[in-house]
Amino acid sequence: MSGPRSKPLSNFADLNLSPALAKAILKCRYSSPRPIQAETIPPALAGRDVLGLAQTGTGKTAAFAIPCIERILTNKRKGPRILVIGPTRELVTQIDDEFRRLTSGTQIRTMTIYGGISEKPQIQKLERRPEVICACPGRLLDLLGRGFVDLSQIETLILDEADHMFDMGFLPDIRRIIQKLPTKRQNLLFAATMPKEIRKLAEQILNNPFVSEIDHSMPAKTIEHALYPVREKRKIEMLRHFLRQDDFDSAIVFTRTKRRARQLAQKLEKDGHRAVALQGNMSQNQRDRAMNGFRKGNYDILVATDVAARGIDVQSVSHVINLDIPNVAETYTHRIGRTGRAERSGKAYTFITEDDGEMVSAIEKMIGTPLQIQSVPGFEEVFIPKKTGRKRGGSAGRNSRSSAANPRGNQRRRKNSTSSSRRRNSPSRPGQKTTKPTQSRGPKRKNTTTGQSSDSSHKRNDSARSQKNRRSGSRRPADRSTR
Ligand code: AMP
Repeated sequence: MSGPRSKPLSNFADLNLSPALAKAILKCRYSSPRPIQAETIPPALAGRDVLGLAQTGTGKTAAFAIPCIERILTNKRKGPRILVIGPTRELVTQIDDEFRRLTSGTQIRTMTIYGGISEKPQIQKLERRPEVICACPGRLLDLLGRGFVDLSQIETLILDEADHMFDMGFLPDIRRIIQKLPTKRQNLLFAATMPKEIRKLAEQILNNPFVSEIDHSMPAKTIEHALYPVREKRKIEMLRHFLRQDDFDSAIVFTRTKRRARQLAQKLEKDGHRAVALQGNMSQNQRDRAMNGFRKGNYDILVATDVAARGIDVQSVSHVINLDIPNVAETYTHRIGRTGRAERSGKAYTFITEDDGEMVSAIEKMIGTPLQIQSVPGFEEVFIPKKTGRKRGGSAGRNSRSSAANPRGNQRRRKNSTSSSRRRNSPSRPGQKTTKPTQSRGPKRKNTTTGQSSDSSHKRNDSARSQKNRRSGSRRPADRSTR
């Protein structure tokens, strides 16, 4: 599918962008392009279709927004000209926010379309023919069917998180929307994974695309992540232990069900934390309040389900805690990618029970490395999950978390620790070196033409720093006492 490649970009200034856009990029403090931007902006500016294999957090929104904005600025025409389709309201709002930041100081208008809220304001905004529409498929199709949207002038279609849209059953809607677009247009498709249905869609709609692959299976290298075996009924106790640690600042806790998310948020609130749930049964207003509150630092803990939280970009999350292991291996990278963003360090803990072995194996296979198993004093569970194919104390080893913080290792040794490999890896013997939790290697940039990989480097985002400052400044003293 990949055609000739253009030279990757090393500096935004080399693009010779319109002054307003160049100024907006500076205002965003994007000093140098992220790998996905370096690769895809030049071909997209040249009008080529793009297939970007990258997840949220890599800078992919600006990668597609910058070429679209440049085109609008250099060739004025009636809108809507750019259509971005994404799976969730949260993601669509984030995309719209990024477009707004990058169009500040211009006349370009953007809008969002999604369900769960009144359609009236959306219809009114459509009448003003904004240049950019960021939409979820369901509401867009609905408004399209009733003649409120005119897509005949669309020049660029962007499908963001296409794999997630497929997971959510949106492919038929997307195909219906595509039928309403001009056949001559540019297509940019972004996905973190390539299930065969998305590959098929890409083959159908993309014309000789430029392919860019940011290694999506690998968590960011700034994330320290490990597994923590625990009995199901002690999970909340273990969670409370982590929330009491000094390095805890803010966390997203993932649960498997909406009900569990709601109940856990309530429990944590009773404990004195500022916790809020984010799950699919909440109204749009409730979800917005939860998300914005967490972003602004009004809450320290967001208890979320996968569907609600996917694609969420919050810069300063110190911990991701998977109270329940994900159901799908790829989700592991998505979840833990909520921390360690923009070169910040982050910690991701996954609680595993005896039945999670199969999923642990699937995740290890996906990321290509064994996950570290750790234990917390008082929670030294003696089981190893079934079906991991891993011997007790396997290659990743198993550590006591507090002994990692205390390299002298005056920890109690785990009971029944008989295997020699376990003994080799155990940090609990005095003077023995501690094995660190898995430190990720990614994200890596894979050149799909040469097959070579190279580590990406991202600049720290100042807005993230100020957000974190706001967050720590807004902590209630009482919270600390509960930790
Ligand atoms: P995304 O993958 O689009 O969700 O982007 C993740 C975060 O990276 C967003 O908060 C962007 O504002 C930020 N970002 C995008 N491009 C750059 C860049 N070139 N330099 C620094 N931060 C960026």
